[in-house]
Amino acid sequence: LPKRLQGSVSSVWNEYITLAMKYNPLNLGQGFPDDAPPSYVTQSLADIAKDANPLLHQYTRGYGHVRLVQALGKLYSGLIGRELNPLNDILITSGAYEALYSTIMGHVDTGDEVIIIEPFFDCYEPMVKMAGGVSRFIPLKLCKTEGPISSADWVLDDAELEQLFNAKTKMIILNTPHNPTGKVFHRKELERIAELCRKWNVLCVSDEVYEWMVFDGVEHIRICTLPGMWERTITIGSAGKTFSVTGWKIGWAYGPENLIRNLQMVHQNSVYTCPTPLQEGVARSFELELTRLGKPECYFCSLPRELQTKRDFMAKFLSDAGMRPTIPEGGYFMLADWSPLAQKVDLSSEPDKYRDYKFTKWMTKNMGLQGIPPSAFYSVPNKNLGEDFVRYCFIKKQENLDKAAQLLQNWK
Ligand code: PMP
Ligand code: GLN
Repeated sequence: LPKRLQGSVSSVWNEYITLAMKYNPLNLGQGFPDDAPPSYVTQSLADIAKDANPLLHQYTRGYGHVRLVQALGKLYSGLIGRELNPLNDILITSGAYEALYSTIMGHVDTGDEVIIIEPFFDCYEPMVKMAGGVSRFIPLKLCKTEGPISSADWVLDDAELEQLFNAKTKMIILNTPHNPTGKVFHRKELERIAELCRKWNVLCVSDEVYEWMVFDGVEHIRICTLPGMWERTITIGSAGKTFSVTGWKIGWAYGPENLIRNLQMVHQNSVYTCPTPLQEGVARSFELELTRLGKPECYFCSLPRELQTKRDFMAKFLSDAGMRPTIPEGGYFMLADWSPLAQKVDLSSEPDKYRDYKFTKWMTKNMGLQGIPPSAFYSVPNKNLGEDFVRYCFIKKQENLDKAAQLLQNWK
């Protein structure tokens, strides 16, 4: 076994998808919508299948189908107030996953340090390891004990953050809106991170796959727009999240040409090119949304509007059941403290090491409700920080949210 794979374990996704297949619970675990995507998005794929142009079924440009990078170029040039060169500044990848992988493999060398904020989307750590880098972790801390909790109450300790930066620091991975807390980093927090990146000449990787899912009028700020940050930031997005088609696995990275070049090299030597019909479908979908950007009927406005209602519904039924949810300002997950319910569950039959694994497995088997154990999103020394929590996904049909509410309400 090569060194880079030693100690690797199967991810929480593989384990919990298998669990869901076996027990068939109401699945609020893995993050994906269970309702139909916008009809024009799926229709675009049907149109492409019937299109007279045979080239739509052949390889396309390796670094990204031209129609798609052009649509993304137009979109993001407007959003970040800087003219992007679609051919050099954007790479199309196999989901945001591959964008992360190509970014990390394309920049991290043996011994380089990468700062990761905990809890973190679980693939960051193994990707850094694969590249030979060293992950340095900093946990978000809940700074409130009384009353309702917002994702904004999960904060970084400034002194701890500052201490992590040093001459070996190559990169910091930021995720906003954040999975799993739903935290949307506010301007002051981003400015502090940016300041440290500039001081220590550090690359910022900004995972913004939930960029359109923000609530309560909170603004999603792209860190690449802060002073001195464009030249050191790679921003990552996902068509799966943007258009509710997670199975399409189309993602992208954008940033300055000299950085994107390194991702292109990893991509050309691994994936080479992403599926043409899917890229064409995503391009046509963006083209439509570009004509109504900012209008109420734009999917990027209607989706968060609908999601906010689901968020509030879930927060209420979790609270009614005795859990303590963190109300997310963004994303489509809710973290809830289940420890007030500890007396209601008998976890002795679950052999797992961490309490949140025991709890979520017990719930799947005995209550027919699946969530994700957040300790999967922490480094080994900090896993205890996630053990009192469970993560539920709320981008689900109302009837399924109703069922979850009912299951918890009937729980004696
Ligand atoms: N980053 C975060 C924070 C995620 O939650 C996910 C899961 N969708 C990804 C990246 C990967 O996205 P994709 O499905 O486009 O590969
Ligand atoms: N991003 C989704 C989640 O956090 C899916 C992750 C995955 O399937 N690897 O649930």
